[in-house]
Amino acid sequence: MSKTDVTPKQVDPDSEARNSPARNPYPVSRIPASNEERFPDLHPALDPLEAVIEANRCLFCYDAPCTNACPTHIDVPRFIKKIATGNVRGSALTILNSNVLGLSCSRVCPVDVLCEGACVMVRENHKPIEIGRLQRFAMDRFYEDFAKGKPWNDPAPVTHPQKVACIGGGPASLACAAELRRRGFAVTIFDNRPLPGGLNTYGVAEYKLRPADSLKEVEMIRSLGVEFRQAMVGESVSVEEIEDEFALIFIGLGLGTMERLDIPGEELLGVIDALRFIERYKTAPDFEVSGRVVVIGGGNTAIDAANAARRLGADEVHLFYRRTEREMPAFKFEYDHSKVEGVRFHWLAQPAEIVGANSRVTAVRFMDMRLGEPDASGRATVAPVPGSEYDFQCDMAIPAIGQARLTSLLEKTRDISLKRGLVVVDRATGRTTNVRYFAGGDCVNGGREVVDAVADGKRAALAMAAQLTSTGGA
Ligand SMILES: Cc1cc2nc3c(=O)[nH]c(=O)nc-3n(C[C@H](O)[C@H](O)[C@H](O)COP(=O)(O)OP(=O)(O)OC[C@H]3O[C@@H](n4cnc5c(N)ncnc54)[C@H](O)[C@@H]3O)c2cc1C
Ligand code: SF4
Repeated sequence: MSKTDVTPKQVDPDSEARNSPARNPYPVSRIPASNEERFPDLHPALDPLEAVIEANRCLFCYDAPCTNACPTHIDVPRFIKKIATGNVRGSALTILNSNVLGLSCSRVCPVDVLCEGACVMVRENHKPIEIGRLQRFAMDRFYEDFAKGKPWNDPAPVTHPQKVACIGGGPASLACAAELRRRGFAVTIFDNRPLPGGLNTYGVAEYKLRPADSLKEVEMIRSLGVEFRQAMVGESVSVEEIEDEFALIFIGLGLGTMERLDIPGEELLGVIDALRFIERYKTAPDFEVSGRVVVIGGGNTAIDAANAARRLGADEVHLFYRRTEREMPAFKFEYDHSKVEGVRFHWLAQPAEIVGANSRVTAVRFMDMRLGEPDASGRATVAPVPGSEYDFQCDMAIPAIGQARLTSLLEKTRDISLKRGLVVVDRATGRTTNVRYFAGGDCVNGGREVVDAVADGKRAALAMAAQLTSTGGA
């Protein structure tokens, strides 16, 4: 069985030193080194020769479909051309100008359904240009220079009297804060976690993005002059205090904890939800798993947890989903990859109880499901098959049935409309129903991709800057 208990242990906060310019406040030695071996890069970096060869395959399309397909509209042909001509720093600056999280996006974007999926080469039945890996090539060089003391930009002078607060320190707020700071606004990010970066630091699969890389981006944004404060807004800092100090507020809270299964046995040792499981292996040293693991859910997070369990040493990993392969919400390429990792899939099965002995999980009791007619949204309904219950033995169970919505803080926040637990915004500006508040990322879209959160944060920053410049605030 797993060597671990199921209580997530947080890394040392060391929060006072976070804004000390004297040293890097996010030493990578806190992050388990063993993960580099257990989770080698899914898409290895290109070497300089490979990058130039790949860049030269690009047709440098006018009105390029890849640029249109990228939510942050990076000028892809332009940054690739700069790699082809040896101007790698210029290439990185082109990327950063559109997407301040160009490094993490180069590693985590589902490029098959975004830029690379739109590449004209696909229409000609050729391999698309490897845009993600080329972007990573340019961004890796940029961060090598950054580590040697070569900044992107020195902090812009503060030219506006009004300050902006960003609540949450994930990709949406990081993008919003960086864009505002570059335009001369003083910005403070409030995040409750020991390390900023949101799910980029704590959630994304290790073979795509390591916490150390997420923190390089945080550090770069800090070097622009963005202030970071560790605080749980609504608890250690009140919404009223933030309203008193800041003219405008961006909400980038993300989503909440994993939804509970609400079945007996969830409290047993050896039951750990997918987000806590992923956070644990990414930040705690020597986290190991053995025996047979059951993952419950059919989304990308379930797949990430199942793949990680395999790499952390589980003998067998079984993923159970209550509909079929066809309805599974995970991206197809993630599902295909998981099969290669050795995860076994079971369809039309729903957990009824988690069974244990001596306070520890021993099995999950499933019942068979039957697909019914599609509902109003076109999704197939499912119903249990009476008398079909069976026990599936396991040593660890990982529920992964979606994240809850973080409504509690927002309900306390005046005049901000919510719909099904998500913040309602004007799409073009990110403005909420309260003119002092803007929002973006998962708390608005219900959980999409890092690049969508970056696009939201940037869009809101531009609207906030315009509002502050024209009205001086609300
Ligand atoms: C397991 C997993 C794997 C994923 N893998 C990928 C992937 O491979 N590729 C991809 O593109 N996307 C992936 N995503 C999605 C992506 O991580 C999110 O879309 C993105 O991080 C959303 O950014 P955000 O800023 O909206 O929220 P988050 O990243 O969730 O950041 C929100 C931050 O706000 C903080 N916070 C919350 N409440 C408060 C409060 N009251 N006070 C202060 N701080 C608060 C949170 O702790 C967190 O740090 C994945 C998501 C998950 C769950
Ligand atoms: S940010 Fe993502 S979607 Fe946009 S060009 Fe880069 S890899 Fe493609």
